[in-house]
Amino acid sequence: MIGTNHMKKNDLLASVLKCNACQSTNFDWQVGKLVCTACGHNYNMVHDKPVMYDNSPVNGISRGDSHDVPSKLAEYVADGRLLGLNLGAGNSTKPRPNIINVDYLLYSNADAAVDAHQLPFVDQAFDVVASFNVFEHLINPEKASSEIFRVLKPGGRLIIHTAFLQPLHMEPYHYFNATEYGIRHWFKDFNIEQVAVSPNFSPLLNLAWMASIIQSGGKGLSKPDRLSIGNLTLDQLATFWQDTSLGRADMWTSDIFNLSQKLPDSTKAAVAGGFELEAVRPKQ
Ligand SMILES: [Zn+2]
Repeated sequence: MIGTNHMKKNDLLASVLKCNACQSTNFDWQVGKLVCTACGHNYNMVHDKPVMYDNSPVNGISRGDSHDVPSKLAEYVADGRLLGLNLGAGNSTKPRPNIINVDYLLYSNADAAVDAHQLPFVDQAFDVVASFNVFEHLINPEKASSEIFRVLKPGGRLIIHTAFLQPLHMEPYHYFNATEYGIRHWFKDFNIEQVAVSPNFSPLLNLAWMASIIQSGGKGLSKPDRLSIGNLTLDQLATFWQDTSLGRADMWTSDIFNLSQKLPDSTKAAVAGGFELEAVRPKQ
């Protein structure tokens, strides 16, 4: 339980913040820096918001797409008694008094910049954690999952949105698209109630995103090739897949395959079915 009515936002943050260098929760909030009074570690403050990890690229307020606090998170804490963490808040448009908004960069309504792999929060701090469109961008999703587990209260709720067949985005900081089973693996320590496709991830929206990338990638092709790609219908693509996968036609000599090969490498890399890696073990 927290009494948010008379609390300033920084007081709420201070009530759960810890120093990742020494685990202390005692800080001296100075102008331009946050100092751990136990170990002396200095954290940079940018526009009065602490940056809670070292070697951060943060030097100002980032602009970015504006989106509201996840509605399930907002509903969960709506009566004001519970404390929520919005991990990967981006530029959330409507700050709520009992939701702490954090992201790797600082956005206008963020309370702090954090690294999801080492959350600067005390154990069992939150009643609910939401993390939308973050996990595909983490180099170690399992570490971040264990950090969320640590900062959630027993019985606390987790709401995740993460990518499966989304095209490449925010490169090079896009590491792991996950299947349902990969997501279940990342969060295997939790009691998972469901892994479902929320409306924002619906298949035709995803296909539209892919089509948009393919179409813009085709802008440098000859006009006939551009038109041939643009005029492909879902029926034609589905029939091509069925015919070639069933061996009724040859995939590798087909017009659709040849058109696909003409797309620029950056387009292929954004919406490819997979990659071929070749590598060499260093000699020493
Ligand atoms: Zn410290």
